[in-house]
Amino acid sequence: MAELETTLTELCKKDLNMCTYEEIYTALLHLVEAESAKRVVPVSGRKLYYISAEFLIGKLLSNNLINLGLYDQVKSCLEAHGKSMAELEEIEPEPSLGNGGLGRLAACFLDSVATLNLPGDGIGLRYHCGLFHQNFTSLLQDETPDYWLGSHDWAEKTDTSYTVSLAGKDYTARLYRIAVTGYEGRTNYLNLFDLDSVDSSCIEEGISFDKSDIARNLTLFLYPDDSDDAGRLLRIYQQYLMVSAGAQMILEECTQRGSNLHDLYDYAAVQINDTHPSMVIPELIRLLCAKGIAFEEAVEIVTKVCAYTNHTILAEALEKWPRHYLNKVVPQLMPVIEKLDALVRSKTADKSTAIIDDNDLVHMAHMDIHFTHSTNGVAALHTEILKGSELNHFYRLYPEKFNNKTNGITFRRWLLKCNPELTAFIESLIGPGFKKDASDLEKLAAFTEDENVLRRLAAIKQDNKKALAHWLKSTQNITVNPDSLFAIQSKRLHEYKRQQLNLLYLIHQYFEIKAGHLPGTPLTAVFGAKAAPAYTIAKDIIHALLVLSAVIADDPEVSKWLQIVFIENYNVTAAEKMIPACDLSEQISLASKEASGTGNMKFMLNGALTLGTMDGANVEIAEAVGQENIYIFGESSAQVIRRYRHGDYCAREWYDIDSNIRRAVNFLTGSEMLARGSRDHLGRLQNELIQKDWFQTLPDFNAYLVRKSQALADYALNPLDWTRRALVNISKAGFFSSDRTIAEYNNDIWHLGI
Ligand SMILES: *Cc1c(COP(=O)(O)O)cnc(C)c1O
Repeated sequence: MAELETTLTELCKKDLNMCTYEEIYTALLHLVEAESAKRVVPVSGRKLYYISAEFLIGKLLSNNLINLGLYDQVKSCLEAHGKSMAELEEIEPEPSLGNGGLGRLAACFLDSVATLNLPGDGIGLRYHCGLFHQNFTSLLQDETPDYWLGSHDWAEKTDTSYTVSLAGKDYTARLYRIAVTGYEGRTNYLNLFDLDSVDSSCIEEGISFDKSDIARNLTLFLYPDDSDDAGRLLRIYQQYLMVSAGAQMILEECTQRGSNLHDLYDYAAVQINDTHPSMVIPELIRLLCAKGIAFEEAVEIVTKVCAYTNHTILAEALEKWPRHYLNKVVPQLMPVIEKLDALVRSKTADKSTAIIDDNDLVHMAHMDIHFTHSTNGVAALHTEILKGSELNHFYRLYPEKFNNKTNGITFRRWLLKCNPELTAFIESLIGPGFKKDASDLEKLAAFTEDENVLRRLAAIKQDNKKALAHWLKSTQNITVNPDSLFAIQSKRLHEYKRQQLNLLYLIHQYFEIKAGHLPGTPLTAVFGAKAAPAYTIAKDIIHALLVLSAVIADDPEVSKWLQIVFIENYNVTAAEKMIPACDLSEQISLASKEASGTGNMKFMLNGALTLGTMDGANVEIAEAVGQENIYIFGESSAQVIRRYRHGDYCAREWYDIDSNIRRAVNFLTGSEMLARGSRDHLGRLQNELIQKDWFQTLPDFNAYLVRKSQALADYALNPLDWTRRALVNISKAGFFSSDRTIAEYNNDIWHLGI
């Protein structure tokens, strides 16, 4: 401690009492950089390159201090000088390099790779404004650029650069690096590429900009609006910049370490995170051929080195690019892709697995499966659906390539960092082993009948709810009741995730309360979700929830029992406040549609009970905790898949038959809602629910209602038993550590060196 104080004082060049938070922050940034640098280990054997369009890493200062073992010392040192860690954290902008679960998974994986002392780097892009910053204006989502780069960001500019040819013109991709420190482990890097010429002054109104000016706009935003040609082309430009610079870096590093490239497999394992980085396959082949390796051998090498993770069965999310786009942006790659397509056609007559289809669309996932040695799904159910239906044709060609790796989360961020009080309590019960070996949490099972333990656990939950209430007050000026049940649905806004089902439930409750049918306990329904800027219905759902929230707030009869809170700009920082405060975790996607989910795991680990469908990793959570410790409802994935296959779902019939459904759906355009909201938005959503309801909200409505009412009643009637079941959930969360996931990837796919 004294030593740390001396170091910090030296870095700040004055007494800590006299320093601003800015100065302390900068000093700590240097301290962390220096400590991280000490843990860089030379690589021997195979090294992982995890390529991903997104890394949703969250703020780094506290997390890095925890991983370096410095957090407690720094905290006490600051407190001794009248400074608070919480205020210090406010200085740091959250890196805007991701969008949702896929990007967060990549971040958790980098933490676990470094923690397990494995050599492995991330490769991605340095977006200047990331996704977008979400504000609510007139009860609608509004998007503004999320400028996060500046003197407080962690990316170090390097002198390394690579030439990348886009539409026949050369650009220079510069490498930036962020150190990734493992928990009591080694330091790896997140490598991010960018062009020096990118210039945010070309952003016009909101987040719109001239999409054709590649040199200035290439890395401004993650997932530029792809509703027009220019936007779609821009996505391909971005993807190729990432994979071409990444592939050149990989080959250069491996060559420097002694590879003759014929033996690339002994030096590199490349994991392709979803289809955005798929062009790394033809790019690596192209580069190897340019170095004199024959095409057939290059294909063999690349297939052995690369592996692919599938994240979705939503058809619209599996990228297919028109051939003329690729001809324009990456003419150097098309001959390679055409040869790969010809190879596939020579192997199988099944046209459904072709890379280039009869409509001249290039299927990125098809290229991934044919020309990597491993295709994995991200939860047991998801992998079974891939094998059995969605990718069945591929599974029959290559059964040996398919495998499951159930997602996980890093406990360092999602327990140690976000819930220090719970962490300390767990440590007092079972010791510190769970921080590195998550299965240790099982030892908590010994305390499920210990009333003192349960009371303390309930008190910690209450503290976290008060902290969330306090944060809501200071950021959005919203007052919530910490004695109500906090049910939280936070995730990207998407119809398959079914925020609209929650919406219909809340309308139903509004009627019930007005009719004097009171619930077991007051309910605070908390939402956090961004909608893609061009996703109309998703934005309509946000509008409907905000309008309903206002309707209820203005009704003293109902607002005693029910409150809706929509948290603005949901991101990792918000998640860290929300998750420890949650009683009931809403995981209500349409069965078969959520590949895994990782939010569900974070909530469970922090002692929430899950209200969910048998979808994604909810299935494995239910198996782990047992039916009595989870609220499962809704149709099974088999039923849902059958309904899609037969094409016989008719929302209108459900609406006509069921008066509760009708009442709730009609309310969307009733006078209460229209007094505050927009008829265009609310009417469109209502129409969508009656005419289409593609994600089958209505068939699950009654089951959802029954289970949720049951949860509210249980919470009110027997709080101690609720807490006991929360403890069971925590004790079973060990399986969902990303350390377990990464160990499986390494044993089955990567076989990394040390
Ligand atoms: C974990 C996380 C997600 C993923 O949530 P799901 O419920 O699995 O979709 C999305 N956004 C943020 C900020 C997260 O931390």
